[in-house]
Amino acid sequence: MCMLTAATMATSCGPAKETADDFSYNDERFADLQMLRYRVDGFEQLSLRQKTLIYYLSEAALSGRDILWDQNGRYNLQIRALLETIYENYQGDRTTDDFRAFEVYLKRVWFSNGIHHHYSTDKIQPAFTQQFMLNAMSTLTDDQLPLLQGQTREQMCQVLMPVIFDPTVMPKRTNQADGQDLILTSAANYYGQGVTQQEAEDFYLAMKQADPDPAHPIMFGMNSRLVKADGRLEERVWRSGGLYGAAIDRIIGWLEKAQGVAETDAQAAVIAKLIDFYRTGDLHTFDDYTILWVQDTVGNVDFTNGFTESYGDPLGMKASWEGYANFKDLAATERTEKLSANAQWFEDHSPADARFKKENCRGITAKVIVAAILGGDLYPSTAIGINLPNSNWVRAEHGSKSVTIGNLTDAYNKAARGNGFQEEFVIDDATRANINKYGDTCDDLHTDLHECLGHGSGRLLPGVDADSLKAYGSTIEEGRADLFGLYYIADPKLVELGLTPDAEAYKSQYYTYLMNGLMTQLVRIEPGATIEEAHMRNRAFVAHWVLAHADGAVALVKRDGKTYVQVNDYGRVRELFGELLAEVQRIKSEGDFEAARTLVETYGVKVDADLHREVLARYKALDLAPYKGFINPEYVVERDAQGNITDIHVRYGEAYDHQMLRYSREYSTLPYVNE
Ligand code: ZN
Repeated sequence: MCMLTAATMATSCGPAKETADDFSYNDERFADLQMLRYRVDGFEQLSLRQKTLIYYLSEAALSGRDILWDQNGRYNLQIRALLETIYENYQGDRTTDDFRAFEVYLKRVWFSNGIHHHYSTDKIQPAFTQQFMLNAMSTLTDDQLPLLQGQTREQMCQVLMPVIFDPTVMPKRTNQADGQDLILTSAANYYGQGVTQQEAEDFYLAMKQADPDPAHPIMFGMNSRLVKADGRLEERVWRSGGLYGAAIDRIIGWLEKAQGVAETDAQAAVIAKLIDFYRTGDLHTFDDYTILWVQDTVGNVDFTNGFTESYGDPLGMKASWEGYANFKDLAATERTEKLSANAQWFEDHSPADARFKKENCRGITAKVIVAAILGGDLYPSTAIGINLPNSNWVRAEHGSKSVTIGNLTDAYNKAARGNGFQEEFVIDDATRANINKYGDTCDDLHTDLHECLGHGSGRLLPGVDADSLKAYGSTIEEGRADLFGLYYIADPKLVELGLTPDAEAYKSQYYTYLMNGLMTQLVRIEPGATIEEAHMRNRAFVAHWVLAHADGAVALVKRDGKTYVQVNDYGRVRELFGELLAEVQRIKSEGDFEAARTLVETYGVKVDADLHREVLARYKALDLAPYKGFINPEYVVERDAQGNITDIHVRYGEAYDHQMLRYSREYSTLPYVNE
């Protein structure tokens, strides 16, 4: 389960910041997409063994690329090869509208790992003509075309042209429209031709009913395509020697190397079990693997590699392939350990009533990781927080691992700088300068306070049902954790602990939080709608309650017809955050449903239509891309004369098209069509 995507993050902002080696977080933009880069800071400080382990796991993460392309549609690999050969060999004018549209189409197809939009799953309509494509192909020899065995170019065109150009052919990758046959109307390649939704549901229902251990069900259907052969349904399992075997064998080869340089025996055992699963395709082995993986928390390096999330299957069973490698963010871990070690101090000094405080308070240490490579369904579009495994009984009996990917969050934040957002919405240069100086530190710290201390603080009075706040429960809980963070981020204790640089830093967080809650988060709401999502409601009720009680300490002011947040008295704002924290803690501890409802409905739901219209218009004028994805770094391996690895370096700066073409060369593992 991917918990967090960039869309759920608070919009952060600030002017461009210099980095040491000309590193740029923003790369090219096309269609509705913005390409970004991420840094792998800390890699150079790892031991050679750890670097080598990450390198092998990275290769394993890239080796499954073709699997995902084929899962996303049966013609994707052949279409990719066709588009790439035209792109590389085109001799005509590369500045015409047709060629430019062709280039954008190819970049979008790369981004989506197939011909359907990565998010909407609608087929991407080319803005160039079929005639342009046929003309471009006519200059290529048969050798340059991705023809199947015995296929002529005319036959290839007959199959592929409608798939590319006809909007009625394979219009949707994953159709969720109620009342239609979701399998027959979905282009995703998880079910063979002619298999109906009813047949698939019956097939898996029978399998579940025959399960001898229904309390510990395997992930039925997760790693196979269900096909009809001679009128009978059967699973083509994705494993070594089975469907996708050539890609899986390549992955296994890299995992074997990784196993040899694992940090601990436990980690080596995890990798060995995964190899075992890839060899056999046995889903009991998969459960054994995930249990070992969940229990292994000692090593610095960790990874995911395999059939993981099932969003692409309209029936939600079959898992798309993804892979990534990561290591612990030691600076972030040190930060959260400091907070956790002082959890009782924070609890004792909170403004909440003593009856609602915990006597024995222990913070938790957040697992912040650094992604080293993104592959399969995590590339280029990715999650920034991941919680696995997905098996319910494994989670219940053995727990799960939950991580936030710090360097990707950081990249999103840094990339947003200089996009004009802050210039548009922050009131003046002095406030912008403060945000620029302290914004990142305080964003991270507020998240840490929220996660490590906020949620864990306080207690319910005896006899109070944890669900008393019902539909308002999660909004109140998120608000409580946010307020805990807001109250304490201004505390001298944080300067004393070395977590904030000085007594001015917190002001950046106060300003951006209020600006987001009062104004800028409205960019994610449709005109005329109210606020529904729990995190957005909590930011709105916190910010609007403070505004309503601020008596001039905070104000919305107009300048040249535009609305801005003005903070006149930061000290008073802190007091107000403290007062609201005490009240929200009371509501939670006493289970005061009526007060929760009044607070949320009064301050957290309604949208000022005029302000909303203004904010949307100002945001639209910035012309920012709605979707973002990442270009990977490269790992450059140094070897001695005997071929032993002596060091590995991270290299940035590879162009998007170069990376995609290189991946198609170096990690092409599967035939164009996989039956
Ligand atoms: Zn939370």
